Amino acid sequence: MTSLDDLPIRDDLRGKSPYGAPQKVVPVALNVNENTHPIPEDVAHDIVARVAAAIIGLNRYPDREFTELRTALAAYLGHGLDPAQIWAANGSNEVLQHLLQAFGGPGRRALGFAPTYSMYTLLSAGTGTEWIAAGRDDEYELSPETAVAAIREHDPGVVFLCAPNNPTGTPLSIETIRAVADEARGIVIVDEAYHEFADPGTPSALTLLPGHPRLVVSRTMSKAFAFAGARVGYLAADPALTDALRLVRLPYHLSALTQAAALGALAHSGEMLAMVDEIRAQRERIFDELARLGFHPYRSGSNFVLFGGVDDPHAVFEALLEQGILIRDIGLPNSLRVTAGTETETTAFLEAIAAFAPGRPGSDGPNRMAS
Ligand SMILES: *Cc1c(COP(=O)(O)O)cnc(C)c1O
Repeated sequence: MTSLDDLPIRDDLRGKSPYGAPQKVVPVALNVNENTHPIPEDVAHDIVARVAAAIIGLNRYPDREFTELRTALAAYLGHGLDPAQIWAANGSNEVLQHLLQAFGGPGRRALGFAPTYSMYTLLSAGTGTEWIAAGRDDEYELSPETAVAAIREHDPGVVFLCAPNNPTGTPLSIETIRAVADEARGIVIVDEAYHEFADPGTPSALTLLPGHPRLVVSRTMSKAFAFAGARVGYLAADPALTDALRLVRLPYHLSALTQAAALGALAHSGEMLAMVDEIRAQRERIFDELARLGFHPYRSGSNFVLFGGVDDPHAVFEALLEQGILIRDIGLPNSLRVTAGTETETTAFLEAIAAFAPGRPGSDGPNRMAS
């Protein structure tokens, strides 16, 4: 059999690994930050009706400009946004790829603050963009000073700010975002994939769009909106910036079925987002309980919690998996990440993880408090 090494693959892709969060069928799947609540049935019926109607017209290409969808997304985001400021694609990963295709590329640098979303690195590699991993402050926080120093040092063409940050959950202050948007000469992408889970009152980077024509705010329907399987991501930016993305997208990249389904979900945004408060409550429960057990949970503004104080993350990951609970080992020392699920799923996780509490007699590690 031929192996990858035998193929004339691009030199800059040789030896790289694809995105690969395990996909396993388990009773409690808390590994990729999905909304674990299913779509309400009446919403599902409306989406089915809209998709069914769209099927009759599948002999024609879909609306290349997805005008109705942009209008609905602008209305959902508010902030006085015009549909011309909206762009969408098959998941925000494709939106980010469009941005790198248009503004990254050979000879250009993209900068992010590690540890951060692994797809930034992979999308940079795929577009021939050099990836620069700048550092964070203690506890994975990112102050305006630290962020601006990295921008001054590297002068990147594209900056990724993940707010709140995946995989750490860390909220990012609007002050840091503003400082970066003011300092950077390149495109500044604020990835707000988890914004709906932030504490109420947390300002969005959308508030900074006026006066910052190179600022991009990226969102997704995959997380709070409980629509991961449909693949819909979008952004808001200056109309000139969204216009640039027409140069790199494939023609008719958003299928008529995707557009119909997304419009159906957006027509019921209240119901689709109804579980967000409950999920936030489960996240807080996870944080409090892990701290009580002696783990070291990090501050989270998302629907997941990263926690340290795990002596052997791989062993704990496997032990939980044996009990049908899938969480995420993201390769950070002594740390694991868990998504806030339903109350029942969260309880299952908390009961299982208690057996590995630091210092607990019989746990496989030395007696010590979380650092
Ligand atoms: C999940 C996630 C996304 C969303 O990806 P989709 O392609 O929209 O499903 C984007 N950014 C971050 C940081 C994420 O964690």
